[in-house]
Amino acid sequence: MKRALVLSVLIAVGGLSLAAYQQPPQPAGPTPGALAATKIEKVKDNLYMITGSDPTDRSLFSGGNTGVFITDNGVVVVDTKLTGWGQVLLDRIKTVTNKPVTTIINTHTHGDHTGSNNMFPATVEIVAHENTKANMEKMDAFKGDGAKGLPKKTYKDKMTLGSGKDRVDLYYFGRGHTNGDTWIVYPSVRVMQTGDMFAWKDAPLLDKANGGSGVEYAATVRKAVAVANNVDTLIVGHSPLRTVPELKEYAQYMDDLVAAVKQAKAAGKSAADAAASIDLMTKYKGYKKERQTGAVQVIYDELK
Ligand SMILES: [Zn+2]
Repeated sequence: MKRALVLSVLIAVGGLSLAAYQQPPQPAGPTPGALAATKIEKVKDNLYMITGSDPTDRSLFSGGNTGVFITDNGVVVVDTKLTGWGQVLLDRIKTVTNKPVTTIINTHTHGDHTGSNNMFPATVEIVAHENTKANMEKMDAFKGDGAKGLPKKTYKDKMTLGSGKDRVDLYYFGRGHTNGDTWIVYPSVRVMQTGDMFAWKDAPLLDKANGGSGVEYAATVRKAVAVANNVDTLIVGHSPLRTVPELKEYAQYMDDLVAAVKQAKAAGKSAADAAASIDLMTKYKGYKKERQTGAVQVIYDELK
């Protein structure tokens, strides 16, 4: 009996270490591939984007796209990628300006957008929506010593930082990806940054635990479209630059996705069957359905 127990423990331990060997944990900070994929690109004038990459390839993944806005007083950084990327961000920024980073804005709570907040000096002001601050406070990364990476300045509906050509407008338009997604407009360069409210051409990640909503998603996106009449270009969460018509299309896509889920549910289908049967890729060219199943499940739960 005893021997059998020892043996099974050994097998379990062996199994664990084999699994660990086959799937090494993602190291904090840059892998060579991810480093090469993380470039600084001019969006317009004094606004740059430090690219992230598609999170489906973890070996190349550094986090979400980062906005870099160079103002007279210093640099505004929007989203700080995964933990361990702070020095890379600073190195990339140094290639376009020698001004210091003065402000960080986090579009939302996720670790691929807030992960390197802690690597900036305490003099940097961190700004986010009030719900995002509350969500970040629940994360292990921001407990204890990590609390220095939490936002100090928050807002509820709208906030403006700076003025004239340095002006940055922060808007909260309602629930979607989470319950604290900030949309940022840089009026002088006619650019909007969407965070993960528009991450890719696929179903969004609906983070139920952080207040996300599929049912309210399209209405939230439409409010952003309504203030985007002076915008030419979008910095989005995890894809190349997009346009306002593409954002409009995304609102329509979300309406169609929710309508299709309602229809499938009314017909008595399970969430899994609904996810398998819903096809929006014929209507929406260039879209994928890699994330449809997860989104359909959350929408199902909301419709209960
Ligand atoms: Zn996210």
